[in-house]
Amino acid sequence: MGLEIKKIGVFTSGGDSPGMNAAIRSVVRTCAYLKIECVGIYRGYQGMIEGDFKPLDARSVNNIINKGGTILKSARCEEFRTAEGRKKAHEQLVKEGIDAFVVIGGNGSFGGALVFNEEFNFPVMGIPGTIDNDILGSTYTIGFDTAINTVVEAIDKIRDTASSHNRLFFVEVMGRDVGHIALNAGVGAGAEEILIPEQNLGLERLLDSLKRSKKSGKSSSIVIVAEGDRIGKNVFELKEYVEEHLPIYDVRVSVLGHMQRGGNPTCFDRVLASRMGVKAVESLLEGKSNYMVGIRDNNLILTPISEAIKAHTDIDKELIRVSDIMTT
Ligand code: ATP
Repeated sequence: MGLEIKKIGVFTSGGDSPGMNAAIRSVVRTCAYLKIECVGIYRGYQGMIEGDFKPLDARSVNNIINKGGTILKSARCEEFRTAEGRKKAHEQLVKEGIDAFVVIGGNGSFGGALVFNEEFNFPVMGIPGTIDNDILGSTYTIGFDTAINTVVEAIDKIRDTASSHNRLFFVEVMGRDVGHIALNAGVGAGAEEILIPEQNLGLERLLDSLKRSKKSGKSSSIVIVAEGDRIGKNVFELKEYVEEHLPIYDVRVSVLGHMQRGGNPTCFDRVLASRMGVKAVESLLEGKSNYMVGIRDNNLILTPISEAIKAHTDIDKELIRVSDIMTT
């Protein structure tokens, strides 16, 4: 193990996700275990620029593994996109004696870390924390499992009221660029149709499917719509369109919104975050830098950040097929 890293900074950046606290805890406890110092950087890159730091020991992360959100707060920071802002951040890290950092966040946060590493040759390691599950190099990101369980729970409740009134519900879920939440939660909750950014099913198919569903005697219908769906209409416009073309339906809309980011992390996310935190710190101490920790086939792997941020992960074609079959 390289000996030059004595103090590691850890922070959360971009949109928060359940399980970020478990990842922070893991980084802090791994540092304590390996007898190196750990410093919490508050509010992401903004706090780095402002020197908003606090030493964290093993006990300072008691009782956070089960909490949603992030104790270190998260932020978006325009100043860090400028060379001047990054210079300030570097000066603060040097002043504090921080030798390397672990960033827990999404693509944008990793992009910032990559530029920072290139400019200052500063060791960085990424942990994917986002509910969208859209990062190359990891089958799962921290927070995704919790988010889909939250969505399934909400849809189960919506279904209760939908079937009592023979209603059709359009439920909008997060996913501007990727449909992982919509597809997984949709299959898990037994949705009739799932509209995702990766494919445009077209309005005709939607109407046909709803007609079929009514004919077959279903007492309620749930259509999941990802925010970035390509059908060309938002959930409210879809409601109007269907009411106009299929007046047999009593249509309602539910936009789940930010509740999808909150809540106590599932056991899966807690375990994933704990494993990734250990791997991130150990990898830095082994002299590795500019990687993101990921998981594939239940093994932890490292992917160069430059690769991880290149594109979004592909949608699971097999799951789309399963969804099609289930809605027969
Ligand atoms: P989410 O998945 O929720 O969008 P994210 O990590 O992708 O999370 P972003 O808002 O894209 O969130 O990025 C977080 C922060 O990272 C930005 O506010 C900015 O400070 C920094 N950042 C992003 N891209 C760059 C870049 N190209 N150069 C420097 N800093 C960047």
